[in-house]
Amino acid sequence: MLFDTVIIGGGPAGLTAGLYTSRARLKTLLIERGLPGGQVMTTELVENYPGFEEGIMGPELSAKMEKQARKFGLEIVQDSVREISLDGKTKKIILEEGRQYEAKSVILCTGAHPRLLGVKGEAELRGKGVSYCATCDGAFFKGQKIAVVGGGNSAVEEALFLTKFAKEVHVIHRRDQLRADRIVQERAFANERIKFIWDSVVEEIRGDEEVTSLLIKNRKTQQESVLDVQGIFIYVGYIPNTEFLSGFITLDEEGYIVTDHNMATSVPGVFAAGDVRANSVKQISVAVGSGTTAAISAAKYIEENFQERLK
Ligand code: NAP
Repeated sequence: MLFDTVIIGGGPAGLTAGLYTSRARLKTLLIERGLPGGQVMTTELVENYPGFEEGIMGPELSAKMEKQARKFGLEIVQDSVREISLDGKTKKIILEEGRQYEAKSVILCTGAHPRLLGVKGEAELRGKGVSYCATCDGAFFKGQKIAVVGGGNSAVEEALFLTKFAKEVHVIHRRDQLRADRIVQERAFANERIKFIWDSVVEEIRGDEEVTSLLIKNRKTQQESVLDVQGIFIYVGYIPNTEFLSGFITLDEEGYIVTDHNMATSVPGVFAAGDVRANSVKQISVAVGSGTTAAISAAKYIEENFQERLK
C-alpha cells in the first residue's frame, strides 16, 4: 500500500506531523507501537504547554492531539516496525505483524525510552517496586516510603507527584545541585514530604519478592548506607529509539537523529521530529514545532520529486 507520508511514532511530534500532512491532503499513515501520545501519556499534569492556563492531564492532551489529526484523515496503525528500507525513491516499511507499506516520504518521530540505572536488583525487581513511570505506578505506594533517582525535570516533577501517595519521597541525586527548572526546584524544596540525598548514587536495589531497601554510596565521602524503601522510581534520562535505523541514517554519538533546520535527515525524503532529534530541547512545544516543520518539508519534497498525487 502506497502512502505519500508514513510517520513512525505517535507522540506529539508524530501527531502534529500527521495533522499537517493530512491537512495538506497527503495520504498519511502513522505507525505507533503503543497508544498514541508517547511520553505525554505517562505525564500526570502538563503545565507548560501553551493554551491550557490551568494545565492539562497528559493523556487528555494526547487524546485531543490524536482526535484532531484523525479528523483531517490521518490513519493510525498499532504495531512496531520490523524492517525499514530508506534508500530508494520509494521507502519500504515492514511491520512486526507482517503488513508492508511504501511511502514517498517518511517522518521519524520515535522518541526515546528511559535509561536504566544498570545496578544489581534493577531488572529482577522491575514491576516489584522498581518503576520508570510515577503516573502508572504511584498509587501503589500509598502511605509508603519511596525513592526517586535523578535531578532533572522528570525526577523532581515526578517526586512532587508521588507525594500525593507516599509519606516520604527521597530524591537521590549524584550531584549537589538539581538540573530541573527553578520553579520545579522551589516547589520540591518547599514540600515537607520530599527529602534530598545529595552527591549519592544507588549501588544496589535490594529485596526478594519486592523492593525493601537501597544500598547508597556518597560519591564525596565514599560512605555507603542503606535506605529502607518500598519503591524506587528511576528518572536518569532517556535513550533515543533509533536501533532500527542504525546504518541507514546519520545518528550522533548518543544515537539521536541528525537533522538540518528543515528536519531533513541524511537520507532524501526522510525527516525527523521530536525528542529523537539530535540537539533538540525535550519539550512538548518543541516536538510540536519540529513535527510541523517536518510535515511542511515532507510536503515540499513530495511536490518537487513526484508528479502524481494520491489524494
Ligand atoms: P535529564 O534532564 O537528562 O536529567 C537526567 C538526570 O539524571 C540528571 O540529573 C542526571 O544527573 C541524572 N543521571 C543521569 N545518569 C545517571 C546515572 N547513571 N546515575 C544517577 N543519575 C544519573 O532527563 P529528564 O529529567 O528525564 O528530562 C529529559 C528532558 O525532558 C529534559 O530536557 C527535560 O527538561 C525535559 N522535561 C521537561 C519537563 C517539563 O518541562 N515540565 C518535564 C520532564 C522532562 P546530572 O544532573 O548530574 O547530569
